[in-house]
Amino acid sequence: MGSYEPVIGLEIHVQLKTRTKMFCGCELSFGEEPNTRTCPVCLGHPGTLPVPNAEAVHYALMIALAFECEIAPRSIFHRKNYFYPDLPKGYQISQYDIPLGRNGRLGDVRIHRVHLEEDAAKLVHAGSSGRIHGAESSIVDFNRGGTPLVEIVTEPDIRSAQQAAEFGRLLRATLRSMGVSDVNMEEGSLRIDGNVSIRPVGSDAFGTKTELKNMNSFRFLERGLEAEIARQEAILDAGGEVEQETLHFDPVSGSLTPLRSKEEAHDYRYFPEPDLVPLVPTEEMLERARAAIPELPLARAERFERELGLNADTARQLAFRSELGDYFERAVAADGAPAPAIANWVTNELVARLGDADPNESKVEPQALARLVGLVEARTISASAAKEVLQALVAEGGDPEAIVEQRGLAMADASELEKIVEQAMAEQADAVEKVRAGQEKAIGAIVGAVMRATKGRADGAEVQRMIRERL
Ligand code: ADP
Ligand code: ZN
Ligand code: MG
Repeated sequence: MGSYEPVIGLEIHVQLKTRTKMFCGCELSFGEEPNTRTCPVCLGHPGTLPVPNAEAVHYALMIALAFECEIAPRSIFHRKNYFYPDLPKGYQISQYDIPLGRNGRLGDVRIHRVHLEEDAAKLVHAGSSGRIHGAESSIVDFNRGGTPLVEIVTEPDIRSAQQAAEFGRLLRATLRSMGVSDVNMEEGSLRIDGNVSIRPVGSDAFGTKTELKNMNSFRFLERGLEAEIARQEAILDAGGEVEQETLHFDPVSGSLTPLRSKEEAHDYRYFPEPDLVPLVPTEEMLERARAAIPELPLARAERFERELGLNADTARQLAFRSELGDYFERAVAADGAPAPAIANWVTNELVARLGDADPNESKVEPQALARLVGLVEARTISASAAKEVLQALVAEGGDPEAIVEQRGLAMADASELEKIVEQAMAEQADAVEKVRAGQEKAIGAIVGAVMRATKGRADGAEVQRMIRERL
């Protein structure tokens, strides 16, 4: 068995969240009846002319700049020709040899190019359950046709399936923070194709790559790449050669089926679009795009680490879900507890209770969470009591101090605790003897008795210390 290193590059399509389509005035469609968002331009009627959407150009510039690309002073639209029912003009307007952006990066992955194009229409396969005119058919829904798309192509810098999924999550968070797309993989507003090859460890030549099409979640992307890496390893181990082809990954069966091989690869006969002038971003356009880019997730995570003392993992969890990051910052601003403690409660206990829901829309006010964490930090309440309070806040909202008061959750005070400890030691005389005789574990029975008597309103370590003091 050889030892191999995977090499992965991603091609990402992002539907932009503009009001209208790329080259006509039709509004974008969100689940409307098929073919209700069309006009002669996006239906490819002869004699119509495309007019570029300024909002789409603005978003594309934001994306290219956010990924630190060099912006082409003059980029060109091309016609990419192929025949398919989803393409009424017989070509897609895209960019070819001079894309809008080049040579960028996101984290430790280099971005090869960023370009602007239009989406194809959608084929709806009706199948036998949806007979049309009595026959099994497919229909074409032109609502999606002409939606503005940005294509992002990475360099083959990724070295594992897991890194590919992590990069994808960072990319999605980055796009989402800019508000340029819904970035929903299931709905197709974010589509990722994975290119993958393997090579012997230590080699710096690239192997033959295959392409996995349209993974519709990051988990499937990771699993699909893993399956394909294993398939290629088995081929090379058996003395065979990987064939360049495009594959479809079925997440249910885990199988990979060929869609097309290199021989069937398209020749798109690209040529410059004669109906569009080159795209020449002015200094004002670039300035406006730069100004519209917010603090991006990677920079935010670094700031959380550097300025607020979070560990890298927690910082990323908060920064890569911008609504969590916003909530966290509101809680920190309330000044009720140290930022790392608040961060732990947000990423662990709060997320465990709210799941994917936005905490800013929940009943737990960020100030309330900060004060709750402050109560734990000050040892006014135990961690388990705090979880009970949090549960109440999630259900009802309200004020943590009031809930502590109502439910009698405050820790027993020193004199009360002393009495309870002494009482417990008297009752657990056996355990006391055992601990005295060196059976350390027996102290658990005494601590347990104290916890029962205080209903958990005591700190275990503190109780142990008090017991030892009295032995
Ligand atoms: P093609 O011409 O077949 O489309 P490109 O050079 O345009 O190939 O690259 C497409 C994608 O494939 C890019 O994301 C790139 O990083 C990736 N890629 C290129 N060569 C390899 C390779 N040998 N192994 C894995 N990925 C690769
Ligand atoms: Zn239209
Ligand atoms: Mg390519």
